[in-house]
Amino acid sequence: MQSSLEETKYILKKYNITANKRLGQNFLIDDNTIENIVKIADTSKQDLVIEIGPGLGTLTSKLLENAGKVIAIELDEKMINILEDRFKFYDNFVLLNEDVLKVNLQELISKNKQDLVNTKIIANLPYYITTPIIMKLLENKLDIESITVMVQKEVADRITATPGDKLSGAITYSVDYYSEATSEIFVSKDSFIPSPEVDSEVIKLKIRKEPKVKVKNEKLFFDIIKASFMQRRKTLLNGLINSKLFDNKEEILEILDKMNLNPQIRGEKLTIEQFAELANLKLGH
Ligand code: SAM
Repeated sequence: MQSSLEETKYILKKYNITANKRLGQNFLIDDNTIENIVKIADTSKQDLVIEIGPGLGTLTSKLLENAGKVIAIELDEKMINILEDRFKFYDNFVLLNEDVLKVNLQELISKNKQDLVNTKIIANLPYYITTPIIMKLLENKLDIESITVMVQKEVADRITATPGDKLSGAITYSVDYYSEATSEIFVSKDSFIPSPEVDSEVIKLKIRKEPKVKVKNEKLFFDIIKASFMQRRKTLLNGLINSKLFDNKEEILEILDKMNLNPQIRGEKLTIEQFAELANLKLGH
């Protein structure tokens, strides 16, 4: 059996293609990492798997062995030709030549799930749109069990940080609202061709049955979090004044007083529960 490195070099040569940097094409060539991603995602023949950005199909081929059905969504037409050639004899493979950000994923899942029990999303994500993809997967409230993705190490650190930590950002709270995030394995930049500038990490987001906190207006809740992180060195009070989400300074001071919070506190010090309370008090005003 060929290694992923040999296979990747062979396919690139056969089809006479070079990786398209603009589309974030860094192909995985480390067999151990590929095995580990499948293990972390914990797929079985009962699962519908959606793979985002299958590229040359290295991970796809392992997923096809370990899942009931695989739907692969790939933007690059050159990759589509290769994937069609490689997997044309599989009856559990569905290939879409689309931009994942434009696909109606829930419709796709409902159409393809049939007797399969769980839906799992798996990807070595294109790094130029990691955050929009993850946020779309979460905000669309899809009927999925988990998301297992490779992202840049720095993004992984932010997503899996404990809210309130130095590394946490607005995305930490959004991800925590919808899912339980864990950092799984470190992946060196040498595990790809071409090699990206930074190392990566595989993270797993297990979707919560209910969001972590109850909020009356999700948009307001997330807008308040974003405003609090917009200028990290500012106090929560200043961040909220600048956000224009509140009528005036007095309104904010009154809410912070009800919550026993010092107006000089920094936004990033608040827990997700405190952000929820803040947003809910604004509504009840
Ligand atoms: N899965 C392959 C692997 O691990 O070797 C390739 C991963 S590569 C990091 C990202 C893949 O996402 C590329 O094949 C790229 O063409 C594809 N891609 C980029 N933007 C996309 C988009 N908006 N929708 C779907 N696929 C996209």
